[in-house]
Amino acid sequence: MMMKHVFSTYNRFPFQIVAGNGYELMDEQGNKYRDFTSGIGVCGLGYNVKELNDAVTKQLGLIWHTSNLYESQLQEEVACKLTKGKEYLVSFCNSGTEANEAALKLARKATGKKQFLAFNHSFHGRTYGSLSVTGNEEIKAGFLPLLEDVKFAAYNDFDALEEITTDLAAVILEIVQGEGGVNCGQGEWLNEVQAKCHEKGVLLIVDEVQTGMGRTGKLFAFEHFNLKPDIYTVAKGLANGIPVGAMVGKKELGEYFGPGSHGSTFAGNPLAMAAANVVLDKLNPDFLDAVEQKAEFVWHYLKQELANVDCVEDITGLGLMIGIHLDEKVKVNAVIKKLQNKGLLTLSAHGNTLRLLPPLIIPASELLAGIEVIKDVLSKCLVTEG
Ligand SMILES: *Cc1c(COP(=O)(O)O)cnc(C)c1O
Repeated sequence: MMMKHVFSTYNRFPFQIVAGNGYELMDEQGNKYRDFTSGIGVCGLGYNVKELNDAVTKQLGLIWHTSNLYESQLQEEVACKLTKGKEYLVSFCNSGTEANEAALKLARKATGKKQFLAFNHSFHGRTYGSLSVTGNEEIKAGFLPLLEDVKFAAYNDFDALEEITTDLAAVILEIVQGEGGVNCGQGEWLNEVQAKCHEKGVLLIVDEVQTGMGRTGKLFAFEHFNLKPDIYTVAKGLANGIPVGAMVGKKELGEYFGPGSHGSTFAGNPLAMAAANVVLDKLNPDFLDAVEQKAEFVWHYLKQELANVDCVEDITGLGLMIGIHLDEKVKVNAVIKKLQNKGLLTLSAHGNTLRLLPPLIIPASELLAGIEVIKDVLSKCLVTEG
């Protein structure tokens, strides 16, 4: 009723979020919610964060926009923090899908090859290039033809290594497939994929759009497995909600992304950079250690308290990226609505998965309290639904 001027590309819940503070959100009726979504993995630092508000407000008073025709100290600062000052360069953009577009373009240009290998159940975005490497037919339906030169293989499958041949420009993957069902990459498999890429002269693109920015307890999820991707992409959590994305590539790829080769009007805009600068400062080693500790605590509790609930088939994830896989008799969307009524916001993912992406700043006690609510709702599910 309310959205009659907007295309109905989203299934929206019938309430609006109008304010937030810390890990708590409020709707237009004044109802409060414990947030286990962070947007969709965006507001890792929570809501109404003083340092972020101050930095963005200060930047608002200085300048909102300047073109990329001039030097930008802010972009340099953020890029330096994003790459930890090491052997990578950054190309800024405004979203996750754009970051992946840049990665695919750079991979083709740098290798002079055109084929890509991606994985079933992957999600890399909605623009044509990113959509082409997304392993979900439903999302692609009606939009064909896409890029022709894309092959798909089974994720975590050692047979997939056979598909990594010299005619590929790049392999693109997520360390934990987010939208695809919170499927964790196995360390040994990921390392073999990387080794095979090196052997065959194929670039490895790691999509850290959802897993990056501390979500899994490291700044980037590939750090858990000591990977060194040729290119990685970041967006969601990078500026805690101000639109921004980044494609990060090894320095030696720099010569292929020279003047005029790629760009975007809004890319690296000052407001996003001011926010990202603060986010990257906040995600220091102590903060990330605290996220890992919280995650460890929560995983222990999840396994103890939830794994034995009848309708829970499996629990997967890494750090504060959690997927609770539900029996098909219980519909995840019905569970999400029940949780909303009990003041808890959650997400879904492919395969009837209840997905939790709480703000990274949430106290452990609040995480446990939310999981208690989930346990309570799920415990009654098979009885009421089935
Ligand atoms: C969300 C997401 C994207 C797309 O990001 P947008 O900002 O929506 O374009 C790409 N890759 C992964 C892994 C994502 O989770």
